[in-house]
Order: sequence, then structure tokens, then C-alpha cells
Amino acid sequence: MEEDCGFSMLNDDIVLAVFAKLEDDPRHWARVACVCTRFSSLIRHFCWKTKCSQTLPSLLSDSPATCASLLKLAVCCPGLRHAGIAADRGASKNPKTSRKPHLARGNWDLRREQGCKLLARQFRDDCLYLCDWPGCVHPHKKRKYMLFRGIFKDFKTSRVWTSLDGDKRKKLPVECAFCTCRYTWDLHSAFCLRRGFRYQIDGEPVVRAYVCENGHVSGAWTDVPLFS
Ligand SMILES: [Zn+2]
Ligand SMILES: [Zn+2]
Repeated sequence: MEEDCGFSMLNDDIVLAVFAKLEDDPRHWARVACVCTRFSSLIRHFCWKTKCSQTLPSLLSDSPATCASLLKLAVCCPGLRHAGIAADRGASKNPKTSRKPHLARGNWDLRREQGCKLLARQFRDDCLYLCDWPGCVHPHKKRKYMLFRGIFKDFKTSRVWTSLDGDKRKKLPVECAFCTCRYTWDLHSAFCLRRGFRYQIDGEPVVRAYVCENGHVSGAWTDVPLFS
């Protein structure tokens, strides 16, 4: 679809000034980027890069692929399937139970404090940036799942990587929501998550998280029962 004729008359500086007004919530940018290739290019090369360098300076890389993944991480919820839930095929069409990646509800910031809360003590020095609690909430079957997403900075030098690689942990066929990796590691069964996280009465872990080779993390918390 081509952009509105009104916008086509305006030069990039003016269009960018308009886009800057949408800065508070980059999900607006994600929507605008779908309008046409010119908007998409402006959002990607200017708006997002500037925002990225202001808010996630240590994660920013000049690699366009990395920047694209970061944009997706910032605005997209991984959806139930990429968080290792809803492997069943008959999932509902209700957007609240969406299995695929979609624009996330809730806060879009990625913060290291949140990542620290997830990891076991011996991995606390790793730089894992996670979205704010409670992430994107999905009712599914009998539970509510609070989906989160995040990224390890310099994943291949992290202790989590050393542990996964050193133990020759097997990857699972849970695809990454943010890049093309088709297999990910289960951080829960690899003992990388905080120890306090236990199981629901039916054996389902209270927290699960999957990481791909590029350090992208998708996962879900479930409500903890009052009595178990
Ligand atoms: Zn979601
Ligand atoms: Zn990935």
C-alpha cells in the first residue's frame, strides 16, 4: 500500500518530526512501519536507531540484523508457542490467547534488573535484559500466562552460555520468536533459573524460559497457587 498523498509531499525531516510525536510507545512506530516502504525505512534507520541508542546503548550494535531483532524484542510478545506453551494445534483465534508473536501489551522497556530476578545466583553477572513484569498476559486453558521476552548481552561470553555449551545441553524444537533459530535451550531444565521457582500441582513449572543461540529469551510465568 502506498503512503497517503499528503505525506508523499513532505520531506523526510517533517515526516520524522511527526513520527517523533509517537515516541512514547514504539508500538505506534511498528504500526506506521507497515504502511509503506518509505515509512518502514525511516522508522528503522532513524526513529528506532535513535531510540535504541538512548534506551539500550549497551545493546546497540551497528549490525542491522541485531537492530531489527532488538526492535522486535522491544515491541513484540513472543506468543504462547514460542514461550513453549500451546503446542496443541487447536488453539483459539482469540487474540488474548495468541500463539504467534504480536505487538505486546504492557510496558516495552527491557531492563537488567528484571533479568537478574530470573537467573540463578551463579548467573547473576550475566547481562540479561527482560521486559517489565507482568509482560503480556495470556489466559490459556486453566491458567494465566504472563509472557516475557528479553536478550542476553554478549551471550556467547555469558556464564549461561558456558554452562549450556559445557554441559552439551540438547536444544528443543521451540523456535525463537525474534530470529531464525529453530531450536532453543530450556533454561529451566538446565538449572539456569532462580531456585525458588517451583512447580504447579500438576507438574507444570511456574516459570519457563527458552534461549536461542543469539541470546534471545522467550518465556512465561504462571500464577502461583495460594496453596500447593
Ligand atoms: Zn502476548
Ligand atoms: Zn533468536
